Order: sequence, then C-alpha cells, then structure tokens
Amino acid sequence: MLIINGGILATYKSTDIQLSALENAMRQFDEAAARMNIDRAMLDILKQPRRAVIVRLPILMDNGKFKVFTGYRVQHSITRGPAKGGIRYHPNVTLDEVSALAAWMTWKCAIVNIPFGGAKGGIACDPTTMSKNELERLTRRYTADLIDVIGPDIDVPAPDVNTDAQTMAWIMDTYSMHARHTVTSIVTGKPIEVGGSRGRREATGRGVLIAIREACKFKKISLKGARCVVQGFGNVGSVTADLLHNDGARIVAVGDVYGGLHNPDGINIPELIEYVKMSKKVVGYPGARPFDSDEILKMDCEVLVPAALENVITEKNAKDIKAAIIAEGANGPTTPDADRILESRGVFVIPDILCNSGGVTVSYFEWVQDRMGYFWTEEEVNSRLESIMVKAFEDVLQMSLANSCNMRIAAFMLAIRRVLDVMMLRGVYA
Ligand code: GLU
Repeated sequence: MLIINGGILATYKSTDIQLSALENAMRQFDEAAARMNIDRAMLDILKQPRRAVIVRLPILMDNGKFKVFTGYRVQHSITRGPAKGGIRYHPNVTLDEVSALAAWMTWKCAIVNIPFGGAKGGIACDPTTMSKNELERLTRRYTADLIDVIGPDIDVPAPDVNTDAQTMAWIMDTYSMHARHTVTSIVTGKPIEVGGSRGRREATGRGVLIAIREACKFKKISLKGARCVVQGFGNVGSVTADLLHNDGARIVAVGDVYGGLHNPDGINIPELIEYVKMSKKVVGYPGARPFDSDEILKMDCEVLVPAALENVITEKNAKDIKAAIIAEGANGPTTPDADRILESRGVFVIPDILCNSGGVTVSYFEWVQDRMGYFWTEEEVNSRLESIMVKAFEDVLQMSLANSCNMRIAAFMLAIRRVLDVMMLRGVYA
C-alpha cells in the first residue's frame, strides 16, 4: 500500500488520457476562488486532496492464473465530516481521475449541505471481461487492503461507474468479517435487504430531474413536451430518462457506448429499459432509428443530459450544441474551455456538483438510517431529497445572480465558502 499525503497534482499527471480531469477540476476551483478573497495557504489546503492510497491487488482469475490490478482511494477532504464518494471500475481509472472525482465530491456534499467531506475510489480493470466471481474477489481484496482507511466515521464508499448494489454488499460483508460484527454504515448504495435505503438506486436520476425542473422554471421552458437527449444509459441516464418521460418530456435520443437511438416523436423509455435489461445495449431496440452516438451531443433539443463519463463536451463540439439546458448527470462532462463557449452562447449549464448530487444525498439518508437502525418509506426519502435539491438549486442560482457568473462558478463559490467556514471554526491544527 502506498499512501501519499497531499501534493498529488505536483507528483502525478495523467499520461494516458488526453484531457486531465484533475487539471479541469483545479481550473474550475481557481476560477471560483479568484472571485473570493481567500488566504493563499487556506486555498492550498482546500484545493489539494489530503490523502491518496494506491493498492496493488493480486487476483486469482477463473483460468487459474493471477492477475495484478491497481486500485486507488483518494480522500480530498474530511473538514465537514467523514470522506464520502463512490468507487468506479473502468480501464481508464488513474490516480489523476480519482483525485478530480474526490475533489468534486467535497464540493457536491457542501452544496447539498450534508455532513461529509469528499473521496473517490477506483480500480483500473475492464469489468465487462470479468466473471462475477472474479469481480467479487477483486472487490473483497480491495476492501481488505483499504480496511484501515475506510469506516463509517472515516470514509464511506458508494457505487459509481460499473459498480452497483451487489458490489456494495461485498464491501459491507468483507469489512464486517474483519470487524467481527455487521457494520452496515461502512458503505451506501447497498441492497435494501442489507441496510440499503429505499430510493437510493433512483436517487441520482431523481435529483437530475428535480434540477432540470428548476432550470426549466427559471428559463421559462415547459418540461411537458420538451425535447430531451440523454447520453449514457446506465443507472443515472436510464432513470433520468424514465422520470423525464413520466413528466411528459419527449426523449428524442439516447446513446450508450455501443451507439445511439433517435425518434423525433419520443422514445418509449419504459419499453427501452426492459429491452436493455436483456440486450445490455440500446441499439437494436425496434422503436427508434439507430445512429452514430458521436452525433448525440449536437442533436436539436431543449435539454441535453450527459450521463456517461468526463470530458465529452469540449472546445471542439461546444459550438455545435443546440440545447438550451445542459444537465450534467455525469461527473466532469464539460471542460473549462467548453464552459466558456457555452456561456457565451447562453446555454444554461446545471453543473455536475449540483445536478447529480441526489445520489450522495440519499447516500447520506442511508448512512443515517443504518446508524439509527430505523428505515424510512420511499415517499419520505423522495420528499426529503426534493427539499434538499430545490434548496441547493436556489442557493446556487442566487449565488450566480448575485455575482453575475455562471452556475458552475457559483456552485464552486458556494461550496468553497461552506468548507472554508467550517475550516475556520475548527481552526488549522498546525
Ligand atoms: N458516485 C456517486 C457520485 O459521484 C455517489 C457517491 C456517494 O453516494 O457517495 O456522486
């Protein structure tokens, strides 16, 4: 296990992805901080991750041979409470990417005002080529290697790209076996039977819907009949599309890694979800025309929801985007250069750290319920989520109007202010 305490930006730079997510996260931070009068040393504490752990994970594969994977856990901040954030399994996972995602978690938790810091984890692997048994062994070994740096009061993981409730159940079980008693609050996003919260699976998509509704109100766009395009059809994209469809919006295009689907009259999303359960991809569904998913971001629509990975809206395609509202279901889908172009063109961007914060908000509810041992109804969960998201949207909007800046800078300013206020109250242990 390699532990680095801070200094990640100086030590590590991504080499295998063109645009560095960490550099983007740092640029967003700098732009907001430049508008605030903050001491340089304080800024330095706020900006950089406080701890990063790298683990090497030898796994016995089904063919009887060992394969060694690299895993990461980055804790960006514990100022407002235990570190919090998901774990992703993807071939492109790097320390750089995980560090950016960890920082975004700190700001996200501050925007919805829940008592957590920010963290993120990841393993560089291709889960599509691995069996369930291999994934279970990988998850258990990763958890065991991180046993000293995670915990209900230390750092609480959750699902992210290519991890789900089953992955969380394995983490909970592994941690509990080491603790010699069941510790449900070690992780959120678990199956309901093992301490999960009702509404958690849908929470990120539900939060995206609430943010879109609020944005439509502000922009005076009727959501009923609005044309929506959703890029990514995983947990976030499919739930968002389904809820938008329920609210009377028209989902004219969806796409995943394999391709896109287009239907100007609106795709029947409940039917598509059933189709994807079997086929694992959207293309092939008979109710819409297939098209090259590279074109999806440029389609004519009122609302565009990037709900896949980072760096998809760049300075290359930002000028071709026709949407009035971009609702960032994914983390980091828009680069700072693209942001500038979108702003000059009057596109209203609901930034990721606000737009997709419904997931971690219900993770917080799950953690609270686990610690109480008393569970809420889905209606209770959804209505508490709704009030938190509406308030967060309003707070960011007011910040943006008061400072004449876009919603992303406003969201960062609000979050930085909230973390800094707690830091000042606690004092710096120097
Ligand atoms: N992975 C999700 C996110 O990026 C959820 C994190 C959590 O619930 O801790 O917000």
